[in-house]
Amino acid sequence: MKKIKFTLFFVLIVTLFGTTSSCEKPLNLFSVNDDIEFGKQFDQEIKNNRDFVILDEKQYAKAYQIINQYKSKLLATEKVDYFDKFSWTVRIIRDDNTVNAFAVPGGYLYFYTGLINILDNEAEFIGVLAHEMAHVARRHSTAQLTKAYGIDLLLSLLLGKNSNQWVKIASGLASGLLELKFSRDDEFEADKYAVRYTYVTDWDARGVADFFKKMDSQKPIPTFLSTHPADKDRIAAIIKEFEALGGVPGKTFEENYKIFIESLKN
Ligand SMILES: [Zn+2]
Repeated sequence: MKKIKFTLFFVLIVTLFGTTSSCEKPLNLFSVNDDIEFGKQFDQEIKNNRDFVILDEKQYAKAYQIINQYKSKLLATEKVDYFDKFSWTVRIIRDDNTVNAFAVPGGYLYFYTGLINILDNEAEFIGVLAHEMAHVARRHSTAQLTKAYGIDLLLSLLLGKNSNQWVKIASGLASGLLELKFSRDDEFEADKYAVRYTYVTDWDARGVADFFKKMDSQKPIPTFLSTHPADKDRIAAIIKEFEALGGVPGKTFEENYKIFIESLKN
């Protein structure tokens, strides 16, 4: 209760004094600990929701071993904000027809098999993984949820009330209809940080650009693009960041990626 009171007090302070700020960033009324608590509850809700068929970690031990290794290598760069504070839990959702991924606050990341299967190498997958991690680490997800649903509703969710609303938000995420549409600025920032995280690893840091090129050529338009609008400017900005860091190419690891795809088969 104390935490909620504090949050409400904080809301009041921001409301009173925040409006004079010329900062264009959307207000984020969540604390970092709220992100963690919110993510935990959200993840529970997703696990309980029948719209999401989450691959079992024991049955698909190999797939989880690979995806967790990818994640750990990115976290080991120590370039990801809250690398040692957020949960950074990765889950794989069985749906071969949905080309999508999403992240919720506190470091819970969800990848559809439809997205994993469509990619050709590790660098492309790392690009999208790093991009989703950046949305969490830069706390875009919380800011967007606050904007879409309002602080009152989110606080009532944190208090364990309003379970119908959880179902609504979770199924919105499943269909890609949730207004968790990131702003253009957030997308550019997530791309930029994805390049930064990846540049210090073995993987080629332009993987995220290759991923977007691939998404662009898909018919019908992948769900991912409806929540992460892409265009040529984004790809150019990714290459520019890569060049600014020194432009040293990394590896793409086609063969290793085939093992990952294989591990998802029944
Ligand atoms: Zn995005």
